[in-house]
Amino acid sequence: MTTATAEKQMPKTMPYKRVLLKMSGEVLMGEKEFGLDSNTVNRVARDIKQVADMGIEVCVSVGAGNIFRGVSGAAEGMDRTQADYMGMLGIVINALALQSALEALKVETRVMSAIPMSAICEPYIRRKAMRHMEKGRVVIFAAGTGNPYFTSDTTAALRASEMNCNAILKGTKVDGVYTADPKKDPSAKRFDSISYMDVLTKDLRVMDATAISLARENNIPIVIFNVREEGNFARVMKGEGTFTTVTSK
Ligand code: UDP
Repeated sequence: MTTATAEKQMPKTMPYKRVLLKMSGEVLMGEKEFGLDSNTVNRVARDIKQVADMGIEVCVSVGAGNIFRGVSGAAEGMDRTQADYMGMLGIVINALALQSALEALKVETRVMSAIPMSAICEPYIRRKAMRHMEKGRVVIFAAGTGNPYFTSDTTAALRASEMNCNAILKGTKVDGVYTADPKKDPSAKRFDSISYMDVLTKDLRVMDATAISLARENNIPIVIFNVREEGNFARVMKGEGTFTTVTSK
């Protein structure tokens, strides 16, 4: 474990020009058991706007754990590939909800889907996505990678690599990576920073192994922070508050 403080990891002047925010679909359900909680979706949209207003280019990769996960469908006897396509459609629903909330705040937004759905959003075309971001639009990546057997974490690492993002901001329920689950083990300690390798070898479940490997190969830091607290995304962007940074060091 390294002991560098959060401040050392991220100076007060934000070094990041472009970031990708990854959120599990479960973030968007708030305290509900399933689906979308509009207050939470609106709050997340305000958080994204706050960062976009700081002049940071933001793209978003959301999951669909609040609606459907392919592995759960497969566990109940469904064909895994079919179930994964259902999961990817769940991501589209979340992306559209987030777009709607962002647009209500007058944030220009584009949903770009890996599975073309021209009636409701743009198809994902890397160069177009780049252009949108350069123009200050928030780009929401929908339908995952478009391939079954992948996850929205892997989508985040893939799109962040394609978009030349300076960091992946992984918004979770906790404020970083701990030695054990802090909700179950009160003696669990939070890492200020940790290496990709340690995350993989210690099986710390920050993101799935494919996502970590991809981020590592492309040297994109992953910042784990608590996305459930209003204003935290912007705070972390300024190097304030608590979070864990995963890098090669
Ligand atoms: N999914 C997929 N390919 C992808 C991304 C996602 O098949 O590239 C499917 C998969 O079934 C997954 C679901 O979409 O379970 C939702 O994504 P994920 O489980 O990563 O959502 P999260 O846990 O982040 O809410």
